[in-house]
Amino acid sequence: MIPHACGFLLPLLLMSKTAEAALPALSERDFKGNGICQLALHGFAMPAQSEKAINDSVQQLLERHRTTLGFKTRPDFRLRMRVFGDYADYTNATFSLYWTNAADRRALQGRPFTVAGFYTSATKEIVTWRQQMPGFLGTTLLHEASHAIMDAHYENVPAWLMEGSADYFAFALHPPGELQQRMLRQRWTRLNQWLRERSLLPLKTLVNADGSAFKHLDSEMAYTMSWSLFQLLMSTSANRQMMLTMLGERQSLTEEPMPCSKQIDRLYSGGLQRLEVAWHAWIVAGSSATNAPASRSGGAGIR
Ligand SMILES: [Zn+2]
Repeated sequence: MIPHACGFLLPLLLMSKTAEAALPALSERDFKGNGICQLALHGFAMPAQSEKAINDSVQQLLERHRTTLGFKTRPDFRLRMRVFGDYADYTNATFSLYWTNAADRRALQGRPFTVAGFYTSATKEIVTWRQQMPGFLGTTLLHEASHAIMDAHYENVPAWLMEGSADYFAFALHPPGELQQRMLRQRWTRLNQWLRERSLLPLKTLVNADGSAFKHLDSEMAYTMSWSLFQLLMSTSANRQMMLTMLGERQSLTEEPMPCSKQIDRLYSGGLQRLEVAWHAWIVAGSSATNAPASRSGGAGIR
């Protein structure tokens, strides 16, 4: 599933810049920093204050994952971020060094490159460019940082859970601003619309999609549904326990990853079908809170 584009869009005008700069040589030794983050900065310097703010938010993000999912933080975990000062260098590096396989290229075919940043498990780093981190991490980079945290602590994470948890934690870390609240309200509205139109993906399709299948789903729908499902599973201790058991079972797989739908069917009281019914009811109930404060819509109310 990784590297991946999470569907966050940059303004199109950024695309007009031509990529003609020579690519800087990249090395492991570029990464520097004593905190939880190690930064590789290309072509610019970052004020110490910004670096501290970024370290603080990644530390909080890690802590939120740890307390919610109950894992033991790896003592050697460092979040590595490579940040290009120049947009042309960022796009050059992305295409010549990172997104080099056919599947990645196919996924982008016919679409402008509008990816603000991405995480790659191959080199375990987030790659982005300067404008995306003006001294703090926005929702997009927090989402990518969540991937790095999950990738460091778990094996065989289903694609929906990887993406759903990343959005959940990214939105929940800070009190959502007006823009985020609007985005979250829009998500609830879309979910209800799809539910009424009967166009929501079947739960089984969503939870069983591997990285490659997930990329081929309608991306807005797949990400929104994943976020919503993860939120529901975090909403009660029984649901959360079911999700943790499911994830735990996947850490000791000796065969091919088992279909997630079968696990849910076995672990959720009433099975997969009952979870699907409960989830649709959750979507309907959430819509009545659409205009209320974001305590429910953002997942920020979850401890
Ligand atoms: Zn993602």
